[in-house]
Amino acid sequence: MKVCFKKGKQSALKSLCVLVALGGALASCGSGSKADEASQSQEELMRKAIELSVENVKNGGGPFGAVIVKDGKIVATGVNRVTANNDPTAHAEVSAIRAACEKLGTFDLSGYEIYTSCEPCPMCLGAIYWAHLDKVYYGNDKTDAKDIGFDDSFIYDELELPYDQRKLPSEVLLPDEAIRAFDLWRQKEDKVEY
Ligand SMILES: [Zn+2]
Repeated sequence: MKVCFKKGKQSALKSLCVLVALGGALASCGSGSKADEASQSQEELMRKAIELSVENVKNGGGPFGAVIVKDGKIVATGVNRVTANNDPTAHAEVSAIRAACEKLGTFDLSGYEIYTSCEPCPMCLGAIYWAHLDKVYYGNDKTDAKDIGFDDSFIYDELELPYDQRKLPSEVLLPDEAIRAFDLWRQKEDKVEY
């Protein structure tokens, strides 16, 4: 779907965007509806993430928005749909990463950057590392988020603690059986590394 943003005839572009829409990724193509879209400044890109966060509150979602960018151009967007979709992983950054990867047909977003209306939580930060995004820009920080009831500091606190002192109990079970998949992976010659 990269072609959505390349120079091309408007009719071809429209057809492609219709295909994207049929694939359920209309939101991620929305910003690329104009051919030869100009690069935007960092402030303009952050304003887009903020605009998404504000609109999302009006649309029944959480106050968070994010855009994924390459060369100053938005390739995908995401908003928080946790309660709207009953999906605790549907944070803005994770949603934007999913949309970008689906659209670009890759699991590796090296060379791309993310602009998010709020400092990423530990889950999103982990997803950003796994996606290999080059840089994070954020507007609100985690203290601002805590002030309105979105406190993720307990997760950071938990990670600092020994396993037996965490609120979330965890227990090792059947490690000798679980290791079989790892042995298979080690031996697999055509694996796709990430
Ligand atoms: Zn998050």
